[in-house]
Amino acid sequence: MLVKLEELGLIRRLGLHDRSAYYTLLQPGHHDDYLICTQCGRIQRLDIACPVEALEKQIEKESGFQKLYHELEFYGLCPQCVAKA
Ligand SMILES: [Zn+2]
Ligand SMILES: [Zn+2]
Repeated sequence: MLVKLEELGLIRRLGLHDRSAYYTLLQPGHHDDYLICTQCGRIQRLDIACPVEALEKQIEKESGFQKLYHELEFYGLCPQCVAKA
């Protein structure tokens, strides 16, 4: 079922490992950006304002492309893994 939805482009799978697969619903006009821990696979939504929305508008204007969207994935070590290291 999930694979089917993924094929249809309705959801997108995030994450590096099967054990931490995380599905996100693709909704027009709304998106989330993510922080992903490369050590434990933990995924967290970025809770700061999206850093590239203004850039996206500029790209639309300059490229003529419409309905741009993006999802950012920042990879690194989460605080727990940093503490363990
Ligand atoms: Zn971690
Ligand atoms: Zn964003």
